[in-house]
Amino acid sequence: MRYGFPVVMDPGTIERVRERTDIVALVRETVKLAAAGRTWKGLCPFHHEKTPSFHVSAERGRFHCFGCGEDGDVFRFVQLTEGLSFVEAVRRLADRAGLTITESTYDPQARDAAEARQRKQALYDVNAAAAVYFERTLREHPLRSAAQAELERRALVPTEPTDAIADALQAFRVGYAPYGWDGLVSHLQSAGLDLGAAEAVGLVVRRKSGTGYFDQFRHRLSFAVLDLQGRVVAFSCRSLADPDPAELARGGLVPATNPGPTPKYVNSPESPIYKKRETVFGLFQARQHVRQVEQAVVVEGNFDVLGLHARGIRNVVAPLGTAFTEEQATQIRRFAPTVIFLFDGDRAGREAVAKSRDACHRAELHAKVATLPEGTDPDELARREGPEAVKRCLLAARGMLEHLIATALDDLPPPADAAARLARVEAVAELIATERDPAIRALADAFADEVVARLGISQARTFEALSRMVRRGARATRRPDDRLNRTTSAQRAPGGAGAPEAQAIERAILGALLDYPELLGRGEVVTGLHELEGDVAAAVASLRRFWDAHVLRGDAATAGRALSEVLPKFPPSLHAFATARIAAPMIERLEDAEAQLHENGERLRTLAVTRQRPAVVAELRRSEATGDLAQGLETLHRRQSALKERADELRRRARERGRR
Ligand SMILES: [Zn+2]
Repeated sequence: MRYGFPVVMDPGTIERVRERTDIVALVRETVKLAAAGRTWKGLCPFHHEKTPSFHVSAERGRFHCFGCGEDGDVFRFVQLTEGLSFVEAVRRLADRAGLTITESTYDPQARDAAEARQRKQALYDVNAAAAVYFERTLREHPLRSAAQAELERRALVPTEPTDAIADALQAFRVGYAPYGWDGLVSHLQSAGLDLGAAEAVGLVVRRKSGTGYFDQFRHRLSFAVLDLQGRVVAFSCRSLADPDPAELARGGLVPATNPGPTPKYVNSPESPIYKKRETVFGLFQARQHVRQVEQAVVVEGNFDVLGLHARGIRNVVAPLGTAFTEEQATQIRRFAPTVIFLFDGDRAGREAVAKSRDACHRAELHAKVATLPEGTDPDELARREGPEAVKRCLLAARGMLEHLIATALDDLPPPADAAARLARVEAVAELIATERDPAIRALADAFADEVVARLGISQARTFEALSRMVRRGARATRRPDDRLNRTTSAQRAPGGAGAPEAQAIERAILGALLDYPELLGRGEVVTGLHELEGDVAAAVASLRRFWDAHVLRGDAATAGRALSEVLPKFPPSLHAFATARIAAPMIERLEDAEAQLHENGERLRTLAVTRQRPAVVAELRRSEATGDLAQGLETLHRRQSALKERADELRRRARERGRR
């Protein structure tokens, strides 16, 4: 999924923006930070937590969360918090830093992109003007009472100008598209805006006879549809009761002839700035809440989103009159791993849920389903029984698979119709087989039991059908990374360098070097690293090459900020560890890092001897048999005392350094 334009952005520009952005100041705009050693620490904005595990390092220009693993630089932070693409994040931070981005104009692709952006800007401009106009007519228009009545009917009238309902109406840019034919047209004209652009976004329609345009949305309650940057990209407008003729007369208007039956909702057509499949109604307003509670609630209607938002349930979105698409699932997945469908329990609601399953699968969005009493919508439930009732409903949400199975077992054919019943079993087995989450598939036995209990078919046949299909599904959906994980754990042979203790020491060594890569410039440090094995040895080698290259280029001073460039060269088993350590260095003083390195080097050597001991003992046994015991023992003692001497010496030197 890509936003924006295929713009060629000059790497120099990107670096300039990065340099001009203080990551601590940037993060502090959204997160409260406190100094903690070399880093700043606060509550993670990307997952819900009570004790801070989110670190920001000014020196490294990076952030890292030890809770959820989110990690990155200033651009990544803006991408995540604002839901922007990389290019958009660069632009946003350039604006913030007061820098102008020059896209290379000699590049025809970039020039075209710049022109396209200008054309799009005209579309955003008319939409923005229309949103303001509709909001104003809701407050001022002589015929606004039908719109007010609709809001009253849904208990969405503010009692104070700053209460939650007023906030919600403002957040969703609720307005009134006025009665008549040319309210918006004349407003846009007098504002000097381009009616061609208004036509392109479907706000106005060209007259068939004569010249000029008329309003597309007339006498409707309007919701603005915002993209993830808060720009108005479309409108979704609900029909209203006809105005009172007396009121019309007072406004000097005549009733429109032949109104005919009108659809309840009219939405903007697709345009260069609005793709239905990719737009989630309410996600802009809900995104911070979605991230905080780590789940989004998907409802069917605009009013459900607005109503729940006004009543304090703010992680709610809607698919805007389409089936839930993979693109929409992907949008939500950027903010949370889980989605709960809160749909009407009627047939249409059930079918909508079933259809959304594939979209969620493909976007790797974990889906749950909360069912409302048939014929009830969420807003109505919240109004009648309070938001707590909706929350209870959400808490009772079941996994998508479980929900679909239960639904498949509703309204069963009569027992006599064995063929129809078996078809149901197969349908359930198919559901299980197509489940991609292995943990959920593993629960299939429980489902099988339920199926058996409900259907009363011979257990053997049911299980056979189920397990056959489940096995098939399990084979089909195995992930390539399963294999990877297994290889990694197999490599950690017990007793090898991967033994837990050695591994911890090796990581401590790598950590100290990531905190102070300049230590790699010291000969004695480097010689002390010979005992490292496997992945850590490979990582340290990459780190040395990185450091040497920086020293050769004469920019050792900036190496710390560029450190994450070395990550792709590290073995995958160390990525998570190194990523965290680069963003959040732990050792506060260079001397401490050096002392730790020596100490851990010694511990590693001692461990190596311990590991070798069984081999040495075996050797001794053999020597015993050949009468060479004395010699063997001496070798062992020599090795151990040399080791001890070396360790003593290192400790003494460390102490001396400490005194200096
Ligand atoms: Zn986190």
